[in-house]
Amino acid sequence: MTDTATSRLETQLMHSGLAEFNPKTLSAPVAMPSMRTSTVRFASLEALDEALTEKSGGERIATYGRSGMDTHAALEEVFCTLEGAQRAFLAPSGLSAVTLAFMALLNAGDHVLVADCAYGPVRYLDKIVLQRMGIEVTYCRAHPEALAAQLRPNTRMLYIESPGSLLFEMLDIPALAQFARQHKLVLATDNTWGAGYAYRPLDLGADVSVVAATKYIGGHSDLMQGAVMANDPELVRRLNETHYAMGYSVSADDAWLALRGVRTLPLRMRQHGQNALDVCEFLASRPETVRIYHPAWPQDPGYALWQRDCMGSNGMLSVELALNHSQARRFVNSLKLYGIGYSWGGFESLVQLIDNSVLAGHGYWPGGDNATVRLHVGLEAVEDLVADLAQALDGVRG
Ligand SMILES: *Cc1c(COP(=O)(O)O)cnc(C)c1O
Repeated sequence: MTDTATSRLETQLMHSGLAEFNPKTLSAPVAMPSMRTSTVRFASLEALDEALTEKSGGERIATYGRSGMDTHAALEEVFCTLEGAQRAFLAPSGLSAVTLAFMALLNAGDHVLVADCAYGPVRYLDKIVLQRMGIEVTYCRAHPEALAAQLRPNTRMLYIESPGSLLFEMLDIPALAQFARQHKLVLATDNTWGAGYAYRPLDLGADVSVVAATKYIGGHSDLMQGAVMANDPELVRRLNETHYAMGYSVSADDAWLALRGVRTLPLRMRQHGQNALDVCEFLASRPETVRIYHPAWPQDPGYALWQRDCMGSNGMLSVELALNHSQARRFVNSLKLYGIGYSWGGFESLVQLIDNSVLAGHGYWPGGDNATVRLHVGLEAVEDLVADLAQALDGVRG
């Protein structure tokens, strides 16, 4: 086994989550197989008793299929490597990983501050579930001064996402972590964008990291999955118990797919990031472009924070175009290589016309009537992606 303590993240990623050697043959499969099983059998009651004792002490011991065996454990180890975490808990979708964090960390009567740039469905979780549970939510620009004004005696958590959804607003995680410590709040962050490779919020002071593995971890648009990571023993205990109590479970085949995908995460992220910068450069040369949202683009207001805190970027960007709504619809409809659809992080390019009424909830959005389009820049030849954008923009002008 490689000395993972001294090697670089990319090396560690290739050497974590491996199958153990068989003690008799001293051999092991290179690729962890999908270990599908609904339950576990023990050689004796004494062996089961020992497993139960270790489990009650918080160890990762499988006594039943719901928590998964070797494939799941391997993937959890990879998530811990990526995020610099002690423990990772798998969930069947990114949103269910978000709900795990909320359910594990909050009680009835608690108040939570949520960054106004967080993933939209968090507002739906609030409306449909949290309100009913007596958990109060305030949406706020995620800057310490703005947050301080919203604190209440029962505020327990600060939930953020950096860079934010839709407009990729970079947040100052170290400053927010200091604010959270000062006010005894748990700082939980959605790190789907950074995926533990481009951004490591736990290293920057966050307490909990939530990742939708559906996106860049899986990387091939064939998987729904999430994970929640933490270091603090008390937070780990709460996540562990709630994870078990709520019955979150992931199929071994999905854990296997995520393991298969994540091995090439650094390569894919670098290529997505390079392609996105090339697309930014093209967009910046167009008269229709008003503003580009991509933190690795030097003109982005978050560029300095991105340079300070991130190790890389990805294929996500948004662009404000001097087009009205019907022109923007024509532009999007005439793209040939960008699929019209939600999600991102797979191999392919995608486009979404963002609703300005949704952007109105983001304090970072400057407002106005122009159209804002979100692109996921895929792994196609970037010359083709640029040519496609050019023909679609020319079509709208013509
Ligand atoms: C997609 C996404 C999620 C939810 O993931 P699903 O697997 O689709 O449930 C959560 N957060 C962010 C930032 C996302 O982009």
